[in-house]
Amino acid sequence: MPNVIKSECPKCGKKGKNYEQIEDKFGWRIIKGKKRPQSYCRECRRRF
Ligand SMILES: [Zn+2]
Repeated sequence: MPNVIKSECPKCGKKGKNYEQIEDKFGWRIIKGKKRPQSYCRECRRRF
């Protein structure tokens, strides 16, 4: 698990600055075998 990881939602500006926050607010996707944070938070993805 990478220890420096963060994500910011480009729509609402919500930030996840550690694994737990990203897990909770963003969720993950697998790209080419690598686990990366979703670019949009869960809430914005639902409304997209
Ligand atoms: Zn958002």
